[in-house]
Amino acid sequence: AKGTEIDEGAVYELQTSFRGELVRPEDVGYDKHRKVWNGSIDRHPALIARCTGAADVRAALRLARSQDLLVTVRGGGHSFPGLSVCDDGMLIDLGLMKGIRVDPEARTARVQAGVLLGELDRETQEFGLAVPSGIVTHTGVAGLTLGGGLGWVMRKYGLTIDQLLSVDVITAEGELVRASEDRNADPFWGVRGGGGNFGIVTEFEFRLNPVGPYVMAGPVFWPMEDAPEVLGFYRGWIADCPDELMTIAVLRRAPALPIVPPDLVGKHVVAIAACYAGPVEEGERALRPLKEFGSPVLDLCRPKPFVEHQKMFDPSFPNGWSYYVRSCDVAALNDDVIDITVEHGRRITSPITSIGLWQMGGAVERIDNRATAFNGRQAGFTFNINGNSKTAEGFDGEREWARNYWSALAPHHTSVYVNFLMEEGEDRVRQAYGAAKYDRLKALKRKYDPTNFFTLNQNIKPD
Ligand code: FAD
Repeated sequence: AKGTEIDEGAVYELQTSFRGELVRPEDVGYDKHRKVWNGSIDRHPALIARCTGAADVRAALRLARSQDLLVTVRGGGHSFPGLSVCDDGMLIDLGLMKGIRVDPEARTARVQAGVLLGELDRETQEFGLAVPSGIVTHTGVAGLTLGGGLGWVMRKYGLTIDQLLSVDVITAEGELVRASEDRNADPFWGVRGGGGNFGIVTEFEFRLNPVGPYVMAGPVFWPMEDAPEVLGFYRGWIADCPDELMTIAVLRRAPALPIVPPDLVGKHVVAIAACYAGPVEEGERALRPLKEFGSPVLDLCRPKPFVEHQKMFDPSFPNGWSYYVRSCDVAALNDDVIDITVEHGRRITSPITSIGLWQMGGAVERIDNRATAFNGRQAGFTFNINGNSKTAEGFDGEREWARNYWSALAPHHTSVYVNFLMEEGEDRVRQAYGAAKYDRLKALKRKYDPTNFFTLNQNIKPD
């Protein structure tokens, strides 16, 4: 059993050498620092250790071990199920670790574990470079990378992990392990998809590739009544599209944002959001058929800075709302998948609930599936089904809608992306990795974390 009381003397001792900040429930700022992105999660750790570097992380781990405390690790705090915070125990908060060092000549970047996606883009885009990452800028680089990392340029440059060169990991024993293809290749394989199971990553080193700084990107909207035709056209249009093009189909009620005309707000719509990670003129040509299909009610697809496109979804997923997600991969967008999707899209009631259907393939698929622990490379599409409400009121209904839709898709489920899981149990984690990779991950877990000290994550059990 994990202890819930922390010895004051031990905290005092940690305080004497700690460079960051130790926050207790009685301290100013406690509520701010214990909160995570998902407002439906409300947990109270006994101690928040806001680390400034590897030394603080090691010292915090020593205290946690000596006191037998449950530990959670927080990068950007965007875990859908809120796995980066627990009641009692210790929250190891890496949010102060914001260092980013770009080497434009070598085309690499060193990135500390508290950096958010938008902060990384800010530094790399100054040089017209980027790490493939995710689609909401306030997400943490750490958690996103450790699960794989899907985003707008993945079909061209692969997942975030496909551009990862090395990591510094601190194991449960406090050992600092540098891992790359050449050095400690086994844990390097494991952290590329295996999440926080093997230790706390303090720093990531990425390869950079040219992106933008201008791209042809944005969403085109049609009324939900047109969704069957739009999705049918979409399926054919992307069948042989270049790797530069990445799309997400979205079904929802049009959001109340300044860019949406007031008479469209709240209406059920289908949108295809796109990003062309190549020359703008090429992108204009590639996107013309989409823009010309049927009768769009809103077309926001145009040349724009890549960093602006990266922020597009930010206002739809702010901190503090109640979020619930169900996810699955499917092999193809067949008629049945389209029918089920349109049927459940029409049933959406909450103004902030949404369906996101991510186009996969391209570079993601071409990289050898054995190369990393991530196992969804063959997926045709990844579903992110979001049942959301602004407060707790109505949240149960949204969750039920998401579960029903996900269940209706069950005959088409293939795999699932580990970063889109809630707390769904060991079978679902195994499903994310497949049996063979799950066994290899278990062996790694036995080697690097035999006591399952890092247990609050998409957990791989050592035994
Ligand atoms: P945290 O909650 O801080 O961490 C999540 C878990 O990761 C922790 O419980 C811990 O187990 C582990 N962890 C975090 N940091 C470390 C570390 N330094 N060392 C070891 N373990 C660590 N995913 C995509 O691939 N593409 C997207 O476009 C995308 N968009 C998203 C948008 C939103 C609004 C949200 C909420 C999530 C999105 N995700 C996306 C999923 C996202 O990748 C995961 O939620 C991820 O865990 C977030 O990382 P974080 O550091 O912000 O989260």
